[in-house]
Amino acid sequence: MPLDGVRHLVATEEAFAFPGYLEALDRLPEDAVRDLDLKELRFIYRHPSGMEWLAPLLDTGAGRLAVMDEAGVDRAVLSLVAPGVQLFDADEGTAMAREANDFLAERIAAHPDRFSGLAVVAPQDPERAALEAERAVTRLGLSGLVINCHTHGEYLDHPRYLPLWEAVAALDVPVYLHPRNPPPRYRDLLCDHEGQVTLAGALWGFHHEAGLHTMRLIVSGLFDRLPTLKLVLGHLGEGLPYYLWRFDYMYHRGYRLKGQGSNELNPGDYLRRNVWLTTSGIHPHADCGPTLRFCIERMGIERMMFAIDHPFQESVPAVATLRDLALSPADLDAIAWRNAVELFRLPSPPGEGDGDGGAPT
Ligand code: MN
Repeated sequence: MPLDGVRHLVATEEAFAFPGYLEALDRLPEDAVRDLDLKELRFIYRHPSGMEWLAPLLDTGAGRLAVMDEAGVDRAVLSLVAPGVQLFDADEGTAMAREANDFLAERIAAHPDRFSGLAVVAPQDPERAALEAERAVTRLGLSGLVINCHTHGEYLDHPRYLPLWEAVAALDVPVYLHPRNPPPRYRDLLCDHEGQVTLAGALWGFHHEAGLHTMRLIVSGLFDRLPTLKLVLGHLGEGLPYYLWRFDYMYHRGYRLKGQGSNELNPGDYLRRNVWLTTSGIHPHADCGPTLRFCIERMGIERMMFAIDHPFQESVPAVATLRDLALSPADLDAIAWRNAVELFRLPSPPGEGDGDGGAPT
């Protein structure tokens, strides 16, 4: 059901896959099964009860458009389903990123009024990742990058990833820091006392991983070095907005007073300057409305964007959550499309003029 009173609705964390990618994941050696993501992916793509997601992930045409139409979503910003190309070695990951971005650009070209997309890169090779980011944005017209947290257990605050961040800053596009499971060295901490992995995935592991990664980037000084970097977090900021005051207090008390930490600003300042949040995974459970309002109040409406996380979350209830918030028309416009159009430089909705937005060519 379309969202009354909203001229346009953009969903910003919408997953897709393509056969060559799934086949390459399938070829990964069994010794990689200690990787929590691969274990989960093999459940999704091989186990009958997980396979309900397979067909909608692979559908970048009529079926997906029908789901968008039913929910009243005008534009979906597509991204390759996690963990993207980050399980592969450097050469295969780099080649797969190129293939994925070409595929995505072709699907967008088939439906330019409905789809935009984020490029994947393989941080395994930061220099080639920087080149692919440039190609994907300037030649393919993609609207930013999606990076699925750690790569082979390494985090993007390591100095070796600086060429990639410098390329992103030069392109002036956002990076969607999408969750994946923590590295294998965390595995035991996510297991119960009988060795069953109970806290991996979207129950806890994803949020832990993306929140940790963001805080690592913040305390590393990356945002002082490259102050215009733009990060996007799903799931209402992976828990970080709840701790805004405590981050700032403890950065000073527990860190600076000991002579550590040389950032120009407090952590909360970077969260409000360099980070945008989306509503992916938020349904109209009674808890969601108040939590969303809390994030709007603490982070500012200008940092909030709508997302569904199709096909892992349902589209109609996700839109209903936005409707039930009873926001002012201006705030609803901001979260439904205006912030996303500005941040990702998407085409303006009909009637909004050609001045702002417009896809990069
Ligand atoms: Mn997602």
